[in-house]
Amino acid sequence: MKVMVIDDSETGRIKITQIVKNRGHEVIEAENGQIALDIITNTSGIDLCICDINMPEMDGLTLVEEVRKRDWDKKDLVFIMCTTETSAGHKMKAKELGVRGWLHKPFKNSQIDQLLDFMTKEFTGE
Ligand SMILES: [Mg+2]
Repeated sequence: MKVMVIDDSETGRIKITQIVKNRGHEVIEAENGQIALDIITNTSGIDLCICDINMPEMDGLTLVEEVRKRDWDKKDLVFIMCTTETSAGHKMKAKELGVRGWLHKPFKNSQIDQLLDFMTKEFTGE
């Protein structure tokens, strides 16, 4: 899979990126929602975005909103939010935007593994 890791914390990105790369997937990193949106616009074949919420420039939920509201083939891009955020309002908004999952930080490496397994199965139909 081609996986985007979007987080303003470098340590946060490195942690997720290492797990994803160790599983043989390609990783594209972005340090905020605006940079991610630019990359998504110019990149084809992204399968999954693992995305922080609280970031400068553009937060994660605004990024999902921007992706959904455009008339393009990336409308249904799969997002999993990975955040310290616990607010019910944010979760509700994420649900409305069709966010597929929610990982609480700090997460266990095995949770990322499970997520990748699940998504790989979904994409390959195995
Ligand atoms: Mg953050």
